[in-house]
Amino acid sequence: MLICDTHSHYDDDAFAKDREELLGGALAAAGVEFTVNMGASMEGAEASVMLAEKYRADAQKADAQKAGAQIAERREAAGPTIVYAGCGIHPDDVGVFEGKETASGMRFPGGADVLEHLRVLCGKEGVVCVGEIGLDYHWMVEEKEVQKRWFREQMRLAHELDLPINVHSRDAAQDTFDMIRENYEAGNDTGGIIHCYSGSAELAREYVRMGYHIGIGGVVTFKNAKTLKKVVSQTPMEYLVTETDCPYLSPEPNRGKRNDSRNIRFVIEEIARLKELDVEQCAELLRRNAHEVYRV
Ligand SMILES: [Zn+2]
Repeated sequence: MLICDTHSHYDDDAFAKDREELLGGALAAAGVEFTVNMGASMEGAEASVMLAEKYRADAQKADAQKAGAQIAERREAAGPTIVYAGCGIHPDDVGVFEGKETASGMRFPGGADVLEHLRVLCGKEGVVCVGEIGLDYHWMVEEKEVQKRWFREQMRLAHELDLPINVHSRDAAQDTFDMIRENYEAGNDTGGIIHCYSGSAELAREYVRMGYHIGIGGVVTFKNAKTLKKVVSQTPMEYLVTETDCPYLSPEPNRGKRNDSRNIRFVIEEIARLKELDVEQCAELLRRNAHEVYRV
């Protein structure tokens, strides 16, 4: 089984000790073909670009040396996993656009300059989306209007660069949807993934109608995740993609432990069960979707 992880955070401190071991071979040995490391802050976006530079090049070189072999054999040879990058600013961190100091003490002059910095990062090799961006009304680190302004600006950036978006939405389902629909109706939409989807099956249908993919992670394996299981059952197979959001959200039976891309096999097994598909066949369909949405 080959696994694609459409949303991860290997730059997180939780991977300080074994990042090299995982990305350099252990993930690939378990069938992980690629992962998209998502920038959440400006520092995270920079770290994502650096990870993509390092591992994407190595993995593609290793693949080229074994050209002719089937992709599954090449991955099983346990070279590095391909790392792509997402560059975007999470709603909790959009204060950086307004001249606020970031978590690590970085400060940019307010407004357009920071957006320019992000634009340069998004243009780097291996960057496949603008993300994660969106709205988070759970923590309310920034006012709603500030979050909306920079979600809109980053969607505009995605359109300008012709990159899909990776969307974070927490306790803000309706506003997130309304903003994406507004962008779509204005003809500026580039599609993408609604990451760690937590809305209703009806709302998922509306996203799919606009061509969006629904990101499914560890939560789908939880017994009480009835709504999400229904979303998976009712969403057309070609609009589902797998993700970890690691180090968070480990699926059963590893719930509560640090997550990594290998655990996606449990997510695939649950999707296969809900879709009444053979696991291998389901994995292959999900792999194709992940390639399609990121155009890789
Ligand atoms: Zn994330």
